[in-house]
Amino acid sequence: MEKEILKFLESLGCEKEVLKNTPSRFCRYLQDYTKGYDQKIGDIVGPTKGLFPNSSETVVRIKQIPFSSMCQHHLAPYFGTIYVSYQPDKYIIGLSKIPKIIDMLSKRLTVQEGLTEEIKIHLVNLLQPRMLKVCISARHSCLCRNIPYNVVTITTAKYRKKRTYLYSTEL
Ligand SMILES: [Zn+2]
Repeated sequence: MEKEILKFLESLGCEKEVLKNTPSRFCRYLQDYTKGYDQKIGDIVGPTKGLFPNSSETVVRIKQIPFSSMCQHHLAPYFGTIYVSYQPDKYIIGLSKIPKIIDMLSKRLTVQEGLTEEIKIHLVNLLQPRMLKVCISARHSCLCRNIPYNVVTITTAKYRKKRTYLYSTEL
C-alpha cells in the first residue's frame, strides 16, 4: 500500500524526497485510528470487572469526554466531546470504564450516528439502565474542505428508557 500512496502523491506533483516517509507514517496513522478492532468489550469491563451492584436511583452524568474517530466515508478524522448520562438499575459501572469503551469504539471506522448508537448499545447491554442518554458533538475534518461547513458542529443523540426507545436532540 505504501508504494501506491507514494505513486499517488508523486502524480500530484509533490517532491519525492520530501515525501519518502509519508506513506509509512500514513499507514501507522491508519493503524492507530483502527486499533479498536483489536479490542473487545470484555477486555475493558464485564461481570467481574468494573460492574458493581447498585441500590440507588442517582443519575450519573459524565460530560465532555474527549474523543477522536475516523469517518468511514472519507477516512478523515472527526473529533469532539461525548456526554453520557444514565440512571442505573441493578448495576453501576466504574467511571473510568465509559471513556475506555468510547476509546475502543471510536478507534474504528465510523460515522457519528453509528458511533452514538454503538455506545448506547454497549452500555444498554452492560447495565440495562433505567435511562441512558448519549450525545456526541463533533467537528468533521472531511467537512473542512468545503467552506462554510468547516465551522459546523454536528450533534447526535440517543436516548433510551426501559422498554421504550426515543430519539432526542436535547443535551
Ligand atoms: Zn466524512
